[in-house]
Amino acid sequence: MRRIAYFGGTFDPVHTGHLSVARSVTKQFDIDLFYFLPAFHAPHKPNRIPTSAFHRFAMLVLATEPYDRIGVSTVELEKSEKRFTIQTLPELYRIHPDCELFFVMGADSWADIRTWRDWEEVLVMSNHIVATRPGYPISFDHVTEKIRQRIVDLRNGSSKTEVFNDGAKHIYISDAVLYDTSASELREDLTDGRLEKRNDVPAAVAKYIEKYELYR
Ligand code: ATP
Repeated sequence: MRRIAYFGGTFDPVHTGHLSVARSVTKQFDIDLFYFLPAFHAPHKPNRIPTSAFHRFAMLVLATEPYDRIGVSTVELEKSEKRFTIQTLPELYRIHPDCELFFVMGADSWADIRTWRDWEEVLVMSNHIVATRPGYPISFDHVTEKIRQRIVDLRNGSSKTEVFNDGAKHIYISDAVLYDTSASELREDLTDGRLEKRNDVPAAVAKYIEKYELYR
């Protein structure tokens, strides 16, 4: 079965941390197609104009252009409203009826998972991959026993490949990547129009940000 991964977020802007997750996960899990899944709404901050979904989408397209197996999904953008993962997952299954689906998140999203609408149902509906992120230790105390039983910890070189094919849905914990950057740090860095952390965004994205004078 083909393996399809979706990585949800606001990507405001997409950065090297996101791309490292995409590349490592695609390799480690032998993913056929990895999609960034931008949300329609970027969080509104009182002192900042929200970045339009068009700009966030365009930056993702530029960032993923060099990679054959990594692309951008418009599924949530097309709804033009806030979507919850519990609403999006059935749609992804409709789009890919005979595929194995993996939903990807970083360690900070995993820590907040109980705030997601119908979080337990979300976690059993598809496979999930939780990627390590510096500054966000991974704990399993906040989830129920039912969920804990599905966790496959692949950190520290563990390669429990047999569980990949047992027919059940799992939550895989992967330390294939560890890249310390965040979109909020980058936005702060950019408020005066300079980009100090130039390595933290792909060159084409840095150029786009300058050209369209974003995050000023
Ligand atoms: P912000 O700083 O604005 O919160 P962010 O950098 O966390 O933004 P998001 O678009 O909110 O970016 O994140 C989308 C997904 O990417 C989330 O699941 C998040 O956990 C994950 N993620 C973001 N940065 C990293 C990173 N450096 N390493 C691993 N996962 C990350």
